[in-house]
Amino acid sequence: MANTGALSGKNAIITGSTSGIGLAIAHVLASKGCNIMVNGMGDKATIDGIIAELPKKYGVKTIYDGADMSKPADIRNMVADCEKNLGSVDILVNNAGIQFTATVEEFPEEKWDAIIAINLSASFHAIKAALPRMRKRDFGRIINIASVHGLVASQHKIAYVAAKHGIVGLTKVVALEAAEANITCNAICPGWVHTPLVQKQIEDKAKEGNISVEKATANLLGEKQPNKRFVKPENIGAIIAFLCGEDGAAMTGEILTIDGGWTAQ
Ligand code: NAD
Repeated sequence: MANTGALSGKNAIITGSTSGIGLAIAHVLASKGCNIMVNGMGDKATIDGIIAELPKKYGVKTIYDGADMSKPADIRNMVADCEKNLGSVDILVNNAGIQFTATVEEFPEEKWDAIIAINLSASFHAIKAALPRMRKRDFGRIINIASVHGLVASQHKIAYVAAKHGIVGLTKVVALEAAEANITCNAICPGWVHTPLVQKQIEDKAKEGNISVEKATANLLGEKQPNKRFVKPENIGAIIAFLCGEDGAAMTGEILTIDGGWTAQ
């Protein structure tokens, strides 16, 4: 049955939506009637499962594009494919991201390049391709998933912190340039969210400190996130649904934190 929710008829690209936060965003937007272009890495069975589940559960169209976010030509094709196959690009969620931790002196150059490409430059390329299409239809909602690391730093995350600070700046420029059209651009800065990206950091810390994964999890939350609870990925999806709806129309250039108090300190 067709979904007649608040976002019905809208089409969204969500980069990195085969896992974690991006997948949760896909579920929330689809539940409001939005058609989804899924993107991201992963095994075929997982991806096939996602593109079968969303239409079945929410009655929306769902397509997949395997663009590699480190490749600008892939990104341009992904945006063009969304318009061609779904009819428009109304919502763009730049979410794909990777992490690597090491001191500045030990940080491998290729990891720096990959993080800057995927976590920062990919958003530029996707926005550059989507914006003229949004202007043509006088509607657009761009949401960039930054991080608390777009606002504050932590040790051993040179490339990630640099990329996420870059996302915050990029968000404001796009917001200003698109302000007179019905196009908004905002960034969301989550604290710790329990996804595969964070699970790896927890397991590394457990190994390093020769402690249990439970203890490493408690340490991780205790160190930075005052409420000592993970942010739920679906809560990030709910903020995005709000920004995409009528009530969010005047919010642009905003840098919204959802971090259990991390950046209040
Ligand atoms: P995740 O590892 O669960 O998901 C990352 C997604 O990005 C996956 O779908 C993956 O396939 C995709 N991806 C990675 N490299 C790609 C590439 N080259 N091309 C296309 N897709 C690619 O991680 P997550 O925690 O859900 O992270 C999603 C976003 O949220 C990232 O930008 C991350 O920086 C940000 N974030 C995460 C947290 C957290 O605590 N988990 C906190 C703040 C911000």
